[in-house]
Amino acid sequence: MKYIGAHVSASGGVQNAPVNAKAIGATAFALFTKNQRQWFAKNLTDTEIDEFKDNCKKLGYIPEQILPHDSYLINLGHPEAEGLDKSRASFVDEMQRCEQLGLKLLNFHPGSHLKKISENECLDRIAESINIALSKTNGVTAVIENTAGQGSNLGFAFHHLKHIIDRVDDKSRVGVCIDTCHAFAAGYNIADKYEFERIWDEFDKTVGFNYLRGMHLNDAMKPVGSRVDRHASIGSGCIGAETFRWIMEDKRFDNIPLILETPDELIWADEIAMLKGFC
Ligand SMILES: [Zn+2]
Ligand SMILES: [Zn+2]
Repeated sequence: MKYIGAHVSASGGVQNAPVNAKAIGATAFALFTKNQRQWFAKNLTDTEIDEFKDNCKKLGYIPEQILPHDSYLINLGHPEAEGLDKSRASFVDEMQRCEQLGLKLLNFHPGSHLKKISENECLDRIAESINIALSKTNGVTAVIENTAGQGSNLGFAFHHLKHIIDRVDDKSRVGVCIDTCHAFAAGYNIADKYEFERIWDEFDKTVGFNYLRGMHLNDAMKPVGSRVDRHASIGSGCIGAETFRWIMEDKRFDNIPLILETPDELIWADEIAMLKGFC
C-alpha cells in the first residue's frame, strides 16, 4: 500500500493538519508541530492534542502515515557548545511533542559542520544528539533526511547516514527519509533508469531498506550534482515524472509516508492523483 501526501499547513493548530491533508486526497501527510522558525514554542494544550488525535482517527490517518518535520534552526552536529546545547534541547522538545501527539516518527536534517570541525566529528555529534533525544523520549523514531549537500550540510551521501546509524545505541528508533530532489542534487542520478536501480542497490547495501521510514517526493529545479536544494513540481523539473512512476511501482516504498514538498500547493491534489495513478 502506498501512503501519498504532502507537507500540509498546521496553521491555527496541529489539529488542522489532518483536515488539510484530507482536502487534497492525501493518504499521508507531514507537518510542523510548532513554528519551524522558532527554537521553542508554547506547549501543546490537551485540547489541541485531543483534537489532533480525533481528527486523525475520524479521517483515517494512522501514525505510520504521518511524518512530522522539526525546526530548520536545529543543528544536531553544531561545532560550538552553545549552538549544540540549544539544538539538542529544542530537538528533545520536538520529540516530546510528537510523543504527546501519539506520533512515531520525527524527520530532521542531520546537521552542518560550518567549516569548524571535520565531517566525521560532525557526524559523531549528530549520532550523540540522537542518543540523547532517544534516552529522553519513548516510542518516537529519529528519521534522518538526506540532504542536497548545500553549504556545509552533511547527510548528502548514503555513507553519512550509515555513519550516524552505526553510532546510535537504539537501532529500533533510528531511520532515514530519502528526499528525491536532495539525492539528485547530491549527485545520485535517479532520472536514469539504470542509475535508479543501481542507486537503490547502493542504498540497500550501505544503509538498508529496513531503515527507510519515509520519502520526500520532489522534482529538482537544478541539474544532477548541483548541490542546490531547490524543489520543483513533479514532472516539471530535471528529474521528470517517470522516476516517480518507478517509485510508485516499487514495493520497497510501500507502507511509509511519501510526502510532496513541491512548491505549488495549489496543484498538490493533482500531483497526488497523478502519483496514485502510477501505482
Ligand atoms: Zn525534504
Ligand atoms: Zn529540500
